[in-house]
Amino acid sequence: MLRVVNYTHLSIILIMTKQEALQAIKENLNAIGAAALETKRKLHPDRVTTFVIDRNINYTNICHIGCKFCAFRVVEGDKEGYILPYEVIDRKIEELIAIGGTQILFQGGAHPKLAIDYYENLIDHIHTTFPAIDIHGFSAVEIAYISKISAISSKEVLARLQDRGMRSMPGAGAEILSDRVRSYVSPNKVTVVDWLRIHGEAHELGMTTSATMVFGLGESDEEIIDHLESLRVQQDKTGGFTAFILWSYQPDRTPLQKLRPDLTKQSPNRYLRLLALARLYLNNFQNIQSSWVTQGAYIGQLALRFGANDLGSTMMEENVVAATGCSHSMATNEMVALIKGVGEIPVQRNTRYERLRSF
Ligand code: SF4
Repeated sequence: MLRVVNYTHLSIILIMTKQEALQAIKENLNAIGAAALETKRKLHPDRVTTFVIDRNINYTNICHIGCKFCAFRVVEGDKEGYILPYEVIDRKIEELIAIGGTQILFQGGAHPKLAIDYYENLIDHIHTTFPAIDIHGFSAVEIAYISKISAISSKEVLARLQDRGMRSMPGAGAEILSDRVRSYVSPNKVTVVDWLRIHGEAHELGMTTSATMVFGLGESDEEIIDHLESLRVQQDKTGGFTAFILWSYQPDRTPLQKLRPDLTKQSPNRYLRLLALARLYLNNFQNIQSSWVTQGAYIGQLALRFGANDLGSTMMEENVVAATGCSHSMATNEMVALIKGVGEIPVQRNTRYERLRSF
C-alpha cells in the first residue's frame, strides 16, 4: 500500500524515496491515482485547473542533431527545409492575440549556420513588436548548439536572449535523463549533466523553465525514477521549474520505428501511472501538466484525476508531434468543457502560472 500522505503545505510534503517509487510504479492504478489526487488536492485546494492559450511556432525545421525519434527535422539543403520570415511569425502572433493568447512556444531545430546574433535580432523583433506576448523559447539543446556555433558559453547565450526579451525556456530535449538511453536514441544531444546545467543557469539568471519527460524509448523503471530524482534535486538547488510535463514517444514516421519496432505507442494506463508517480515524487514542483497532445483529449482530462492540475495549452498550432501523424488541437471552449467535466474550475493562466481569468 502507498503511505498515506499527511501534510498541509508544499514544503512539508512527504519525500518519496527511490525505493518507494519503485514499489509505487507497480501499484494498482486506482491506488496510485488516488494518492496523486490527494496530493494534488493538498497543493491546489481551490479545485482550479489552469491552461494557457498559446501557439507553437517553429522558426526552422533544419536541424543537425538527428534524434532517432524525430519526424520533424530535415537537414540543410533539403527542399522541405525552412526558416520562417519575420512577416510569417508576425502574422501567426497576430492570429494568436486575436483569440486571447498570451504565449508563444518558440522552438526550432539546431541550425548549423545560425549564431547568437540571428537569435538576438529575432527575439528583439518579437518582443518589440508584441511586448505583451510571453516568449517561452528554445530548449537546452538549442541553447547548447547556439553556444557551440557562437563560441560563447551557454549562460552567455541565455543572458543575451534574456536581455532581448526571452523570459522562460521549455523543458524540451530532456526525453529520458539517462545517458544510456540517450546514447542510442539521441547521441548528438546534450548529456544529462548539460541539460540540467543549462536549466540551472536559466534559473540563476531569473528565468523560469519547465521540465519534461518522454517515456517509451526503451528505458527501465529505475531510469524513470532517476529522471524524476534529477529534476527534484535540480529544483532544490535552483528552484526555477514551473511545472513537470509528461509525454509519450510517438513512433510513427520516425527513424526509430524501423530500428526498434518493439518500441510501440504507450498505453493510457502507463501514462496515467507515470503521471501519478510524478505528482507523488516531485514534492517540490507546484504544477503537473497533462499532455492531451500525445494522449488525446479524454486521457488528458482523466489525467486531472491522476495528479495533473494544468491541462497545458490550447495549442493553436503544433508541428513537431504532428509530424508523427499524432495531430490534435483544441478550442478554448473545448478545454473549458473538459475541465468542468471533472468538476474543476477552468482558469486561463500565463507562462508564469499567474491566473488571468476564470470560466
Ligand atoms: S528532436 Fe529536436 S534536436 Fe532532435 S532532431 Fe528533432 S528537431 Fe533536432
